[in-house]
Amino acid sequence: MTVEQDNPGKRVLLAKPRGYCAGVDRAVETVEKALERYGAPVYVRKEIVHNKHVVRTLTERGAIFVEETEEVPEGAHVVFSAHGVSPAVRESANERGLRAIDATCPLVTKVHQEAKRFARDDYDILLIGHHGHEEVEGTSGEAPENVQLVDTEEDVASVEVRDPSKVVWLSQTTLSVDETMRRVDALRERFPELSDPPSDDICYATQNRQVAVKTMAPECDLVIVVGSGNSSNSVRLVEVALDAGARTAHRVDHAGELDETWLEGMRTVGVTSGASVPELLVEEVLRYLAERGWADVSEVTTANEKITFALPRELRKNLGGARE
Ligand code: SF4
Repeated sequence: MTVEQDNPGKRVLLAKPRGYCAGVDRAVETVEKALERYGAPVYVRKEIVHNKHVVRTLTERGAIFVEETEEVPEGAHVVFSAHGVSPAVRESANERGLRAIDATCPLVTKVHQEAKRFARDDYDILLIGHHGHEEVEGTSGEAPENVQLVDTEEDVASVEVRDPSKVVWLSQTTLSVDETMRRVDALRERFPELSDPPSDDICYATQNRQVAVKTMAPECDLVIVVGSGNSSNSVRLVEVALDAGARTAHRVDHAGELDETWLEGMRTVGVTSGASVPELLVEEVLRYLAERGWADVSEVTTANEKITFALPRELRKNLGGARE
């Protein structure tokens, strides 16, 4: 079915900030610089960031993505992804003589440090996050004896601690802020002395993208979130949009996944993208919409992000201090 071209009032609200965060930018650049510096192939453990387009583009340039360091030939370069790794993975890479370049986002590293510190003080650590996500596997691996993952309401009900006066919650960096606080409230009902993390674990980029989508969602008939299905922060943006009042919301990897029937009867379409999404994928979505009458685009800006991270130390050393 073709959508009418002359539907009056058709407009697009475009969230800002959206797309690449500082940690993703740095991780992608890390692989690019490693390829320039050492030549192909450069191995990457897990998806460098959770975006299919990024992984495909880097693969075309000579990156080889593997699940575990055991798949990397001895002595080769291996990049650890933005989501971080456990100490066991570092040790295994070291034992096999791999030349590791660590692209773990510094804000994930911060959560690792918190886990280590609370484990040293013998706290039980309740890590709010998603089962099976690489980031929580890495963070849990810092203190496996002390960390328990809390994902679902059932986990909140079943988790047990040794001493209710020495328990702290930490979280994955890419969760829904509101959903996480609901989990914390429920945990606190069970453990009134539950300690908070020393600073927000949900990162600035996740929070900013959620605030932007929340601001525009009440005005939107439809919100389109560009991002991959395994990207936690992208999936959360769909939930946040619906929670904040968007009539409907869909996630697509790219414009080719848009369904014309979603636009039937719609006027205001919101567009945003997850923290691992290159802007060109958003531009394709905007082009698709413009061709169907949604050419009027207004940006809804809730923050201007200026943050950048220096490249991993292994590359700074070799590239003469780039981006120091
Ligand atoms: Fe780092 Fe946040 Fe980006 Fe993840 S989403 S890479 S924690 S800045």
